[in-house]
Amino acid sequence: MKKGLDLLSSVKSSLISDSVIQRRVQAIGQQISLEYRDEGEEYPLVVICILKGAFVFCADLIRTMHLPLEVHFMAVSSYGDTTSSSGVVKIEKDIDIDIAGRNVLIVEDIVDTGLTLAYLKEFLSDRKPRSLSICTLLDKPAAREKEVKVDYVGFEIGDDFVVGYGLDYAQQLRNLSGIGILKPEIYQEDEE
Ligand code: 5GP
Repeated sequence: MKKGLDLLSSVKSSLISDSVIQRRVQAIGQQISLEYRDEGEEYPLVVICILKGAFVFCADLIRTMHLPLEVHFMAVSSYGDTTSSSGVVKIEKDIDIDIAGRNVLIVEDIVDTGLTLAYLKEFLSDRKPRSLSICTLLDKPAAREKEVKVDYVGFEIGDDFVVGYGLDYAQQLRNLSGIGILKPEIYQEDEE
């Protein structure tokens, strides 16, 4: 498996640059702020950041939102260290607050097959929040296996494996400031 600088050079040119991401994040943050503005005082928004991939996006997003809000974290696993979905979603870390009667916003890095978010949505709905919305930085509609309504989408992308801005390959490359496509030969090599 390629690591370190070798892996870094395996990312094809930037798909979405840092500055384009920042402009879009700002726009989504403003839209969310407007939509929750009237309820903010009475019902501070509960933002649930899905670890690990969404941590960079969520950190930028909340700082563009002008609302009373709390941030909590959940970790789910569906992929391990490869690039295709196992179809099995496991809650590795749950939130430690009661969301009954609260406005909840799930912040995710990317929707691919939709299996993770469909599962999470059902899992959290059972706790009877006042509302439950989903915000994802990236959406790969071509890969969808399970329909799930996503309320806020940063960018629709093609069916490539992407890294950077929080998204990893085998736990690396999260630190790239933009989003790039990982050369397929890298994970094809690893899968052999
Ligand atoms: P889904 O359940 O929708 O297939 O997958 C969701 C999760 O798979 C995401 O939260 C992310 O962790 C991972 N994933 C899906 N596509 C990609 C991708 O192109 N790059 C990376 N780094 N992770 C991905």
